[in-house]
Amino acid sequence: MSSPTFYVEANPAPVAANERTRLLADPGFGKLFTDHMAMIRWSDAKGWHDAKITARGPLMLDPATAVLHYAQEIFEGLKAYRLADGGIALFRPEENARRFRESAQRMAMPELPDDLFIGSIEALVKADANWIPDLEGGSLYLRPFMFASEVFLGVKPASEYLYLVIASPAGAYFKGGAKAVTIWVSDHYTRAAPGGTGAAKCGGNYAASLVAQAEAIREGCDQVVFLDAAERRWVEELGGMNLFFVFDDGSIVTPPLTGTILPGITRESIISLAREQGITVREQAYAIDQWEADAKSGRLVETFACGTAAVVTPVGTVKSRDGAFTIGSGGPGQITEALKARLTAIQRGEAPDPHGWVHRFG
Ligand SMILES: *Cc1c(COP(=O)(O)O)cnc(C)c1O
Repeated sequence: MSSPTFYVEANPAPVAANERTRLLADPGFGKLFTDHMAMIRWSDAKGWHDAKITARGPLMLDPATAVLHYAQEIFEGLKAYRLADGGIALFRPEENARRFRESAQRMAMPELPDDLFIGSIEALVKADANWIPDLEGGSLYLRPFMFASEVFLGVKPASEYLYLVIASPAGAYFKGGAKAVTIWVSDHYTRAAPGGTGAAKCGGNYAASLVAQAEAIREGCDQVVFLDAAERRWVEELGGMNLFFVFDDGSIVTPPLTGTILPGITRESIISLAREQGITVREQAYAIDQWEADAKSGRLVETFACGTAAVVTPVGTVKSRDGAFTIGSGGPGQITEALKARLTAIQRGEAPDPHGWVHRFG
């Protein structure tokens, strides 16, 4: 696939090198941004046009801009890594490009061609390569997103959109690395209903999850886990991560993609890696009562959540209004740690990449 060319307007006032070095020593997550952004416009009349890399800065939006009223917005999240040999790589960006198109379809938005999606990210990472942190677990987190930019209050798919990519240097997502988290079972709020937008990566899903996440924090938990909206019985996923359950016979279960769960690229990669190692992986509905019973009987030995930002996060304790239960030792489990190590080694170019998942460039 040939990369389209992006017109580059260099930032005339980038962050000074010594200041950048200071900031990159402790980037945190999502609070520090690079000098540039990628931008492409779409209109009914012109289609995709005006692709460029430009100085990162505020957007001027008319108060009647459609997204501010009806939330027609989608996004993606992926990381650029510095490889041991100095090269730069993305992990399975073709999958993000495809999912971005699928999210666009669901939200009645135009589909960005894959070469523009990947080209915009490559061009931005090249412009801001000196922002990739040189830290253990460090990466440049990339946030492509698109929103309805038409100035119009009528309820219909907009006739103008803005696609942007911003980049944020990141250390480890959860402080303390792979420490096990405590999660709160939301018995009142649900995340996605059949026929809804659960499989689309749209801001609206997150907006609807925040009150449940706030409840989780109030209950002394780190994250919220959602049950299915129809029966309030089947374990679906966290606000932004998919779930895996590891049993004492070595097999693994993860909830199936039935349209209410976000099809995570980390999820799919973990399934492939586990199967290659001879582990039986079942994509199967798993009930909340069963989860508790299996944890208590010892049949369930590990649970972990996964997603691009935090990669793999062990779940130690599950809390609900009925009480709490602990999984295994309450700390990171062996299979969890082994799968995480395998995945991150491939992502960072430290292990063979038989699937061609690592997209090298620059
Ligand atoms: C993005 C996301 C995930 C994880 O997807 P990855 O492709 O693995 O990063 C899981 N759940 C939700 C709700 C998400 O938005």
